[in-house]
Amino acid sequence: MSFSLYLHYPFCASKCSYCDFYKEIYHGAAELEFFEALKTETRLAAENLGDSGRDISTIFIGGGTPSLINTESLADWLDLLRRHFALSNDLEFSIESNPESVTLENLRAFGKLGVNRPVFGIQSFNTKVLKILGREHNPHHSQRAIYYANALGFKNFGVDIIFGLPFQTSRMLVDDIDQIIDLDPPHISFYQLTVEEGTPLATMVRGGKVRLPDNELSLAMYKGSCQRFIEAGYTRYEVSSFAKPDFECRHNLSYWHGSDYLGLGPSAHSFINGQRFMNRANVSEYIGLLQKNELPRSVDKSGREERMTEAIMLGLRTAGGISREMFSQRFGVPLEACLDRRQYEMLVRSGHLIPEKGSLRLSDDGIVLADEITRRLIK
Ligand code: SF4
Repeated sequence: MSFSLYLHYPFCASKCSYCDFYKEIYHGAAELEFFEALKTETRLAAENLGDSGRDISTIFIGGGTPSLINTESLADWLDLLRRHFALSNDLEFSIESNPESVTLENLRAFGKLGVNRPVFGIQSFNTKVLKILGREHNPHHSQRAIYYANALGFKNFGVDIIFGLPFQTSRMLVDDIDQIIDLDPPHISFYQLTVEEGTPLATMVRGGKVRLPDNELSLAMYKGSCQRFIEAGYTRYEVSSFAKPDFECRHNLSYWHGSDYLGLGPSAHSFINGQRFMNRANVSEYIGLLQKNELPRSVDKSGREERMTEAIMLGLRTAGGISREMFSQRFGVPLEACLDRRQYEMLVRSGHLIPEKGSLRLSDDGIVLADEITRRLIK
């Protein structure tokens, strides 16, 4: 059986004000130690899987800032990975890249190592907003990164854009969308900013130093931008994901469809043979355990109910919706048995929810309210 592989690269040049992903400040010596530990983790994970799953269909390196990776260490790890697993002939291999650290040299080296889908964290073209977010790049870096990707012949690449940003107006977002559409990336991830507790941004918002667009404006921004993307030839295949035909991110689709994935690196999650694991979110502990030949993971004890809720939430966020067959195979109960009957009927009547023969999906009006509808539907 094939599965997806996620690698969490835990280093960044600096820390952004809104970020709650696990990361440490980059240090060359720490990175070398991390890669040694990662090789041990890869070997142990392969032994642990036995013969049950050795075919990798997608690789996604996220972080952190993977564009800082020492490409020799990456090559070394990929050699080991190939010795323990079979990489699919049509492997999708993505790597997240921060525009300021993208160079012709590292992008070319990534391509030689098999990366066929760089993803650029552009977020916005507004210099002031990027500063508030604590990003290291400016609009010139973003333009340059896309220029390099095109110059090196990457047919598939993605960009990440955020809306609902500090002090953002509709006009500012329209400027961002215009520039993105001009760059013509095959894939766009379009996220709303979330203010995570414990981040510097949360402190700024609480202290009144930063003002964010309200819900009504954010919804209008989302709808207007979706319209622009669709007019420019993109399909919305998930609430936040837009692709030109055949450029959907297969790695993310595998998460949303509930397929198996193996997560390596600090804080990475795995879902293998119906069981979920979480890796330690601390690079020193991660390295320490692997030096003792122990996998740095624990079993996620979340129950069946939580997993069903998650499957409904993720499925409804996709344009195809939830497959009834996949749901009942996975959980042993029909999908409708898990939904609030009254809410279900109301949402069908209002045109937000569309029951189809093999699936249950949201309409265009429904998908913009996906999270709220999921909350109402779950019993
Ligand atoms: S570069 Fe990415 S992972 Fe690193 S701090 Fe910024 S948002 Fe977080």
